[in-house]
Amino acid sequence: MSPLLSVQNLKVYFRGDETVARAIDGVSYEVHAGETVCLVGESGCGKTVSALTILGLIPRPPGEIAGGKIFFKGRSILGLKEEEFQQIRGKRIAMVFQEPMTSLNPVFTVGDQIKEAIMVHEAIADRQAHSRCVGLLKDVGIPSPEERLRDYPHQLSGGQRQRVMIAMALACNPNIVIADEPTTALDVTIQKQILNLFKELQKARDMSLLYITHDLNVVREIADCIYVMYAGIIVEQGKMEDLFEHARHPYTMGLLASLPHRAKRGRILYSIPGTVPDPAYKPGGCPFHPRCEHAAGICKKEFPEMCDYGDGHLSRCPVLYERTNTVTF
Ligand code: SF4
Repeated sequence: MSPLLSVQNLKVYFRGDETVARAIDGVSYEVHAGETVCLVGESGCGKTVSALTILGLIPRPPGEIAGGKIFFKGRSILGLKEEEFQQIRGKRIAMVFQEPMTSLNPVFTVGDQIKEAIMVHEAIADRQAHSRCVGLLKDVGIPSPEERLRDYPHQLSGGQRQRVMIAMALACNPNIVIADEPTTALDVTIQKQILNLFKELQKARDMSLLYITHDLNVVREIADCIYVMYAGIIVEQGKMEDLFEHARHPYTMGLLASLPHRAKRGRILYSIPGTVPDPAYKPGGCPFHPRCEHAAGICKKEFPEMCDYGDGHLSRCPVLYERTNTVTF
Protein backbone atom coordinates (compact mmCIF):
# COMPACT_ATOMS: atom_id res chain seq x y z
CA MET A 1 0.00 0.00 0.00
CA SER A 2 1.41 3.40 -0.91
CA PRO A 3 2.04 5.72 2.03
CA LEU A 4 -0.20 8.64 2.91
CA LEU A 5 2.82 10.85 3.50
CA SER A 6 6.26 10.25 2.06
CA VAL A 7 9.30 12.40 2.81
CA GLN A 8 12.16 11.56 0.48
CA ASN A 9 15.77 12.64 0.95
CA LEU A 10 14.66 16.02 2.32
CA LYS A 11 17.31 18.70 2.86
CA VAL A 12 16.53 21.96 4.62
CA TYR A 13 19.30 24.49 5.15
CA PHE A 14 19.41 27.90 6.82
CA ARG A 15 21.84 30.41 5.39
CA GLY A 16 23.59 32.89 7.69
CA ASP A 17 26.09 35.57 6.63
CA GLU A 18 28.99 33.15 6.68
CA THR A 19 27.57 29.78 7.56
CA VAL A 20 25.01 27.29 6.33
CA ALA A 21 23.13 25.36 9.03
CA ARG A 22 22.19 21.98 7.55
CA ALA A 23 19.19 21.39 9.82
CA ILE A 24 17.85 18.47 7.74
CA ASP A 25 20.34 16.67 5.60
CA GLY A 26 18.72 13.90 3.57
CA VAL A 27 15.86 12.62 5.68
CA SER A 28 13.37 10.03 4.42
CA TYR A 29 10.35 8.60 6.20
CA GLU A 30 6.82 7.42 5.51
CA VAL A 31 3.48 7.49 7.28
CA HIS A 32 0.79 5.02 6.23
CA ALA A 33 -2.94 5.32 6.78
CA GLY A 34 -3.96 4.78 10.40
CA GLU A 35 -0.35 4.44 11.54
CA THR A 36 1.50 6.21 14.37
CA VAL A 37 5.04 7.13 13.40
CA CYS A 38 7.37 8.64 15.98
CA LEU A 39 10.28 10.92 15.11
CA VAL A 40 12.65 10.68 18.05
CA GLY A 41 15.79 12.53 19.04
CA GLU A 42 17.30 15.20 21.25
CA SER A 43 16.46 18.90 20.84
CA GLY A 44 18.21 20.39 17.83
CA CYS A 45 18.34 17.21 15.74
CA GLY A 46 15.87 18.50 13.11
CA LYS A 47 12.55 16.88 14.08
CA THR A 48 10.50 20.07 14.20
CA VAL A 49 12.09 21.54 11.06
CA SER A 50 11.04 18.45 9.15
CA ALA A 51 7.43 18.81 10.40
CA LEU A 52 7.28 22.53 9.58
CA THR A 53 8.58 21.80 6.09
CA ILE A 54 5.73 19.36 5.49
CA LEU A 55 3.30 22.16 6.34
CA GLY A 56 5.11 24.75 4.23
CA LEU A 57 5.95 26.82 7.32
CA ILE A 58 9.70 27.26 6.85
CA PRO A 59 10.46 30.98 6.34
CA ARG A 60 12.35 31.40 3.04
CA PRO A 61 14.84 33.08 3.41
CA PRO A 62 16.72 32.26 5.61
CA GLY A 63 15.38 28.71 5.11
CA GLU A 64 15.95 26.89 1.85
CA ILE A 65 14.71 23.53 0.61
CA ALA A 66 18.05 22.27 -0.67
CA GLY A 67 16.74 18.97 -1.99
CA GLY A 68 14.26 16.13 -1.71
CA LYS A 69 10.55 15.59 -2.18
CA ILE A 70 7.41 15.37 -0.07
CA PHE A 71 4.35 13.49 -1.31
CA PHE A 72 0.93 13.59 0.32
CA LYS A 73 -1.55 11.04 -1.07
CA GLY A 74 0.83 10.60 -4.00
CA ARG A 75 0.89 14.33 -4.86
CA SER A 76 4.09 16.34 -4.61
CA ILE A 77 3.47 19.19 -2.14
CA LEU A 78 6.88 20.86 -1.80
CA GLY A 79 6.46 23.33 -4.64
CA LEU A 80 2.83 24.27 -3.99
CA LYS A 81 1.73 27.91 -4.02
CA GLU A 82 0.52 29.34 -0.70
CA GLU A 83 -3.17 29.20 -1.77
CA GLU A 84 -2.77 25.53 -2.67
CA PHE A 85 -1.00 24.82 0.61
CA GLN A 86 -3.92 26.32 2.50
CA GLN A 87 -6.14 23.57 1.11
CA ILE A 88 -3.91 21.01 2.80
CA ARG A 89 -2.57 22.72 5.92
CA GLY A 90 -5.06 22.43 8.77
CA LYS A 91 -7.54 20.58 6.58
CA ARG A 92 -5.78 17.40 5.44
CA ILE A 93 -2.62 17.69 7.57
CA ALA A 94 -3.01 19.40 10.94
CA MET A 95 -0.51 20.19 13.66
CA VAL A 96 -0.56 20.26 17.45
CA PHE A 97 2.23 22.39 18.87
CA GLN A 98 4.25 21.90 22.02
CA GLU A 99 3.13 24.77 24.22
CA PRO A 100 -0.61 25.48 24.04
CA MET A 101 -0.36 28.72 26.04
CA THR A 102 1.76 30.33 23.34
CA SER A 103 -0.09 28.68 20.44
CA LEU A 104 -3.54 29.86 21.51
CA ASN A 105 -4.39 33.54 21.13
CA PRO A 106 -4.96 34.98 24.64
CA VAL A 107 -7.43 37.67 23.48
CA PHE A 108 -9.94 35.36 21.78
CA THR A 109 -12.19 32.78 23.39
CA VAL A 110 -11.50 29.12 22.84
CA GLY A 111 -14.76 28.88 20.87
CA ASP A 112 -13.76 31.68 18.48
CA GLN A 113 -10.42 30.03 17.81
CA ILE A 114 -11.81 26.56 17.07
CA LYS A 115 -14.58 28.09 14.95
CA GLU A 116 -12.01 30.01 12.92
CA ALA A 117 -10.10 26.78 12.24
CA ILE A 118 -13.31 25.36 10.74
CA MET A 119 -14.51 28.42 8.84
CA VAL A 120 -11.14 29.05 7.16
CA HIS A 121 -11.66 25.79 5.28
CA GLU A 122 -15.42 25.29 5.10
CA ALA A 123 -18.27 27.56 4.04
CA ILE A 124 -20.70 26.70 6.82
CA ALA A 125 -23.09 28.77 8.90
CA ASP A 126 -21.99 30.15 12.24
CA ARG A 127 -24.54 28.03 14.15
CA GLN A 128 -23.36 24.87 12.42
CA ALA A 129 -19.73 25.73 13.22
CA HIS A 130 -20.71 26.34 16.84
CA SER A 131 -22.31 22.90 17.24
CA ARG A 132 -19.24 21.34 15.57
CA CYS A 133 -17.08 23.09 18.22
CA VAL A 134 -19.25 21.66 21.00
CA GLY A 135 -18.85 18.17 19.50
CA LEU A 136 -15.08 18.60 19.18
CA LEU A 137 -14.67 19.62 22.83
CA LYS A 138 -16.78 16.60 23.83
CA ASP A 139 -14.59 14.36 21.66
CA VAL A 140 -11.43 15.56 23.40
CA GLY A 141 -12.98 14.98 26.83
CA ILE A 142 -13.66 18.53 28.02
CA PRO A 143 -16.68 18.65 30.36
CA SER A 144 -19.39 21.35 29.97
CA PRO A 145 -18.22 22.19 26.43
CA GLU A 146 -20.82 24.95 25.87
CA GLU A 147 -19.41 26.89 28.83
CA ARG A 148 -15.75 26.15 28.06
CA LEU A 149 -16.17 27.57 24.54
CA ARG A 150 -16.76 30.96 26.16
CA ASP A 151 -13.54 30.73 28.18
CA TYR A 152 -10.26 32.43 27.32
CA PRO A 153 -7.12 30.24 27.24
CA HIS A 154 -5.86 31.52 30.63
CA GLN A 155 -9.06 30.25 32.29
CA LEU A 156 -8.24 26.63 31.41
CA SER A 157 -5.70 24.24 32.93
CA GLY A 158 -2.60 23.16 30.94
CA GLY A 159 -4.19 19.79 30.13
CA GLN A 160 -7.44 21.42 28.98
CA ARG A 161 -5.54 23.88 26.77
CA GLN A 162 -3.73 21.02 25.09
CA ARG A 163 -7.08 19.27 24.56
CA VAL A 164 -8.35 22.48 22.92
CA MET A 165 -5.30 22.44 20.62
CA ILE A 166 -6.10 18.86 19.69
CA ALA A 167 -9.75 19.83 19.05
CA MET A 168 -8.54 22.61 16.71
CA ALA A 169 -6.32 20.16 14.87
CA LEU A 170 -9.26 17.76 14.46
CA ALA A 171 -11.66 20.51 13.38
CA CYS A 172 -11.63 19.62 9.68
CA ASN A 173 -11.17 15.87 10.11
CA PRO A 174 -7.57 15.68 8.82
CA ASN A 175 -5.92 12.55 7.43
CA ILE A 176 -2.77 13.19 9.45
CA VAL A 177 -2.07 15.03 12.68
CA ILE A 178 1.50 16.08 13.34
CA ALA A 179 1.99 16.41 17.10
CA ASP A 180 5.18 18.21 18.10
CA GLU A 181 6.09 17.30 21.70
CA PRO A 182 2.44 17.86 22.73
CA THR A 183 2.87 16.51 26.25
CA THR A 184 6.27 17.95 27.18
CA ALA A 185 4.83 20.85 29.19
CA LEU A 186 2.36 18.62 31.08
CA ASP A 187 2.77 16.59 34.25
CA VAL A 188 2.93 12.80 33.99
CA THR A 189 -0.71 11.99 34.79
CA ILE A 190 -2.05 14.54 32.29
CA GLN A 191 0.53 13.32 29.78
CA LYS A 192 -0.89 9.81 30.09
CA GLN A 193 -4.44 11.12 29.58
CA ILE A 194 -3.43 13.03 26.44
CA LEU A 195 -1.66 9.97 25.00
CA ASN A 196 -4.75 7.84 25.64
CA LEU A 197 -6.84 10.54 24.00
CA PHE A 198 -4.64 10.47 20.89
CA LYS A 199 -5.01 6.68 20.73
CA GLU A 200 -8.81 6.80 21.08
CA LEU A 201 -9.22 9.60 18.52
CA GLN A 202 -6.94 7.88 16.07
CA LYS A 203 -8.96 4.69 16.25
CA ALA A 204 -12.31 6.48 16.05
CA ARG A 205 -11.26 8.66 13.10
CA ASP A 206 -8.91 6.31 11.26
CA MET A 207 -6.31 9.06 11.35
CA SER A 208 -2.53 8.85 11.04
CA LEU A 209 -0.26 10.41 13.61
CA LEU A 210 3.26 11.74 13.15
CA TYR A 211 4.43 12.18 16.73
CA ILE A 212 7.59 14.17 17.47
CA THR A 213 9.23 13.59 20.81
CA HIS A 214 12.48 13.14 22.69
CA ASP A 215 10.75 10.91 25.26
CA LEU A 216 11.13 7.19 24.60
CA ASN A 217 8.58 6.34 27.31
CA VAL A 218 5.99 8.18 25.24
CA VAL A 219 7.20 6.39 22.10
CA ARG A 220 6.76 3.01 23.77
CA GLU A 221 3.13 3.91 24.55
CA ILE A 222 2.00 4.90 21.09
CA ALA A 223 4.40 4.14 18.21
CA ASP A 224 3.95 1.63 15.42
CA CYS A 225 7.16 2.72 13.70
CA ILE A 226 10.08 4.78 14.93
CA TYR A 227 12.60 6.97 13.11
CA VAL A 228 15.51 8.06 15.29
CA MET A 229 17.05 11.37 14.18
CA TYR A 230 20.48 12.71 14.97
CA ALA A 231 22.12 15.85 13.56
CA GLY A 232 19.61 16.18 10.73
CA ILE A 233 19.70 12.57 9.52
CA ILE A 234 17.84 9.35 10.31
CA VAL A 235 20.23 7.04 12.15
CA GLU A 236 17.87 4.16 12.85
CA GLN A 237 14.35 3.12 11.91
CA GLY A 238 12.12 0.15 12.52
CA LYS A 239 9.03 -1.23 14.20
CA MET A 240 8.57 -0.17 17.79
CA GLU A 241 9.03 -3.57 19.51
CA ASP A 242 12.02 -4.48 17.33
CA LEU A 243 13.78 -1.20 17.97
CA PHE A 244 13.23 -1.34 21.73
CA GLU A 245 14.31 -5.00 21.93
CA HIS A 246 17.17 -4.90 19.43
CA ALA A 247 18.47 -1.37 18.98
CA ARG A 248 21.34 -1.43 16.48
CA HIS A 249 22.66 2.12 16.53
CA PRO A 250 24.83 3.40 19.41
CA TYR A 251 22.76 6.59 19.62
CA THR A 252 19.49 4.66 20.04
CA MET A 253 21.21 2.36 22.51
CA GLY A 254 22.34 5.42 24.49
CA LEU A 255 18.82 6.89 24.52
CA LEU A 256 17.40 3.58 25.75
CA ALA A 257 20.12 3.19 28.39
CA SER A 258 19.27 6.63 29.77
CA LEU A 259 15.64 5.66 30.47
CA PRO A 260 14.82 5.42 34.17
CA HIS A 261 13.73 1.96 35.34
CA ARG A 262 12.93 0.29 38.66
CA ALA A 263 15.87 -2.07 38.18
CA LYS A 264 18.23 0.93 38.02
CA ARG A 265 17.03 2.37 41.36
CA GLY A 266 19.90 3.83 43.41
CA ARG A 267 22.23 3.97 40.42
CA ILE A 268 23.24 7.05 38.44
CA LEU A 269 21.41 7.02 35.12
CA TYR A 270 23.45 6.72 31.96
CA SER A 271 23.72 9.85 29.82
CA ILE A 272 25.23 10.13 26.35
CA PRO A 273 28.38 12.24 26.68
CA GLY A 274 28.54 15.58 24.81
CA THR A 275 25.80 17.38 22.93
CA VAL A 276 24.16 17.41 19.49
CA PRO A 277 26.48 19.29 17.09
CA ASP A 278 25.68 22.75 15.78
CA PRO A 279 24.08 22.15 12.35
CA ALA A 280 26.50 24.72 10.87
CA TYR A 281 29.54 22.84 12.18
CA LYS A 282 28.80 19.13 11.95
CA PRO A 283 31.76 16.80 12.29
CA GLY A 284 32.83 14.92 9.16
CA GLY A 285 32.30 11.19 8.76
CA CYS A 286 29.64 9.84 11.08
CA PRO A 287 28.17 12.90 12.84
CA PHE A 288 27.82 10.85 16.04
CA HIS A 289 31.49 9.88 16.23
CA PRO A 290 32.60 12.47 18.86
CA ARG A 291 30.04 10.97 21.29
CA CYS A 292 30.21 7.32 20.29
CA GLU A 293 31.94 4.75 22.47
CA HIS A 294 32.07 2.29 19.55
CA ALA A 295 33.76 4.71 17.13
CA ALA A 296 36.53 3.31 14.97
CA GLY A 297 39.05 5.12 12.74
CA ILE A 298 36.78 4.94 9.69
CA CYS A 299 33.99 6.77 11.55
CA LYS A 300 35.85 10.08 11.31
CA LYS A 301 36.33 9.76 7.57
CA GLU A 302 33.30 8.13 5.96
CA PHE A 303 29.66 9.07 6.12
CA PRO A 304 27.88 5.87 7.22
CA GLU A 305 25.40 4.15 4.91
CA MET A 306 22.20 2.52 6.17
CA CYS A 307 22.59 -1.17 7.07
CA ASP A 308 19.60 -3.47 6.62
CA TYR A 309 18.69 -5.81 9.50
CA GLY A 310 15.51 -7.00 7.74
CA ASP A 311 11.79 -6.41 8.33
CA GLY A 312 12.17 -2.65 7.87
CA HIS A 313 14.85 -2.30 10.54
CA LEU A 314 17.71 -0.09 9.27
CA SER A 315 20.64 1.39 11.15
CA ARG A 316 23.27 3.85 9.99
CA CYS A 317 26.20 2.16 11.69
CA PRO A 318 28.32 -0.09 9.46
CA VAL A 319 30.79 -0.66 12.31
CA LEU A 320 28.27 -2.48 14.54
CA TYR A 321 26.69 -4.14 11.50
CA GLU A 322 30.00 -5.67 10.55
CA ARG A 323 30.64 -6.83 14.13
CA THR A 324 27.15 -8.38 14.34
CA ASN A 325 27.57 -10.19 11.05
CA THR A 326 31.15 -11.37 11.58
CA VAL A 327 31.22 -15.07 12.43
CA THR A 328 34.35 -16.28 14.16
CA PHE A 329 35.41 -19.97 14.13
FE1 SF4 B 1 29.61 5.06 16.22
FE2 SF4 B 1 31.06 4.72 14.02
FE3 SF4 B 1 28.68 3.61 14.22
FE4 SF4 B 1 28.93 6.24 13.91
S1 SF4 B 1 29.49 4.67 12.44
S2 SF4 B 1 27.58 5.20 15.30
S3 SF4 B 1 30.73 6.64 15.14
S4 SF4 B 1 30.45 3.16 15.50
